[in-house]
Amino acid sequence: MKKIQMTTPLVEMDGDEMTRVLWQMIKEELLLPFVDLKTEYYDLGLKNRDQTDDQVTVDAAHATKKYGVAVKCATITPNATRMEEYGLKKMWKSPNGTIRAILDGTVFRTPVLVKGIEPYVRTWKKPITLARHAYGDVYKASEMSIPGPGKAELVYTAEDGSTTSELVHTFDGPGIVQGMHNLDSSIESFAKSCFQYALDAKQDVWFAAKDTISKKYDHHFKDIFQEIYEKEYKKAFEKAGITYFYTLIDDAVARVIKSEGGFIWACKNYDGDVMSDLVATAFGSLAMMTSVLVSPEGYYEYEAAHGTVQRHYYKHLKGEETSTNSIATIFAWSGALRKRGELDGLEKLTHFADLLEKASIQTIENGKMTKDLALITKLKNVTVLNSGAFIKEVRRQLETMLQA
Ligand code: NAP
Ligand code: MG
Repeated sequence: MKKIQMTTPLVEMDGDEMTRVLWQMIKEELLLPFVDLKTEYYDLGLKNRDQTDDQVTVDAAHATKKYGVAVKCATITPNATRMEEYGLKKMWKSPNGTIRAILDGTVFRTPVLVKGIEPYVRTWKKPITLARHAYGDVYKASEMSIPGPGKAELVYTAEDGSTTSELVHTFDGPGIVQGMHNLDSSIESFAKSCFQYALDAKQDVWFAAKDTISKKYDHHFKDIFQEIYEKEYKKAFEKAGITYFYTLIDDAVARVIKSEGGFIWACKNYDGDVMSDLVATAFGSLAMMTSVLVSPEGYYEYEAAHGTVQRHYYKHLKGEETSTNSIATIFAWSGALRKRGELDGLEKLTHFADLLEKASIQTIENGKMTKDLALITKLKNVTVLNSGAFIKEVRRQLETMLQA
């Protein structure tokens, strides 16, 4: 078979531990035999980040701006233990944080659904994509303990020195106070990324906050979303047959639970933090959760939502067998290849990405899966495969589908 051609390279960001091992296997078994794979390679493995003073992460993010599409392996975010383990010069920042700061994006997380791994919520038939605003609010708040009676105020001092203030509370005993902020520019990027993603996925957008209680703060989010929608996206949404609506966060959770799925749920930072774990767990398994960072300019970075699966890696190093689920990492590659195919008008590449996903799902539905899924599946006669054997089984399935 002639290999499928690519015209523009993908930005490939290699990573750490068990996912780095899977990365290599996926390329060897599922990509290189079929695609004339063009990538610009950046090694974001912790050793190389340390050697380059983390310049490699910055370079990889800038390459994503240049080419438009990246695929990233999970990476270690160093802590004190990792400093010692890798003999690091510095406790480098989270690569995802660095990349997000340069691309100014929103992270969208979507579960991969397969028959036999049932969501805990009976009505959910289609995946729910959670979009979390990743800036500000309580994550960048200032807090104070109030020791006793007195007045707490919010004060804004303009550049010319003039001030405006708002009473928070007149305390007659001890208490606590908190001040938080957000930026119009960040909320606008968030809104645009959500609407852009919705057009790509041809799915509705739900946005929820608490504007009935937070009449200025949350209301501002609601207004910005509405304004950008009307000005820049309404026509395209109507043409695509999709809708945008705003509702209260408590109404949203009720509707989400009663829904069939198949939409994008945009959440403020805190709501998104809490709800993304809820949605991921309710759909079955973290190892099946895909993730893509979408910038308001339309740059895409695909990855798995899980980490480097450290515990499995240490077993692997000891020569023991592992059964690590590669689905989310395979889907990071298929997502990036599909996007590349769409942008470059390469139908064969887009089709290959679709088949790779179908083959992966079919393999599991045929009862061949890794241990994490075998533990929760309703399927009978399951074969538990090790990390490499699962990927080889997907290859067999893919070859059958390619020949059909
Ligand atoms: P993790 O890698 O997500 O793994 C946590 C546990 O979840 C694993 O021990 C495993 O459970 C299960 N699991 C996750 N992915 C799996 C898969 N593909 N197949 C089977 N089981 C899977 O989180 P972590 O161990 O807390 O973090 C390890 C490293 O990842 C850290 O250094 C952290 O900084 C990094 N991290 C990176 C990213 C990223 O790059 N986006 C995200 C999160 C964490 P069992 O052990 O019970 O089998
Ligand atoms: Mg969290």
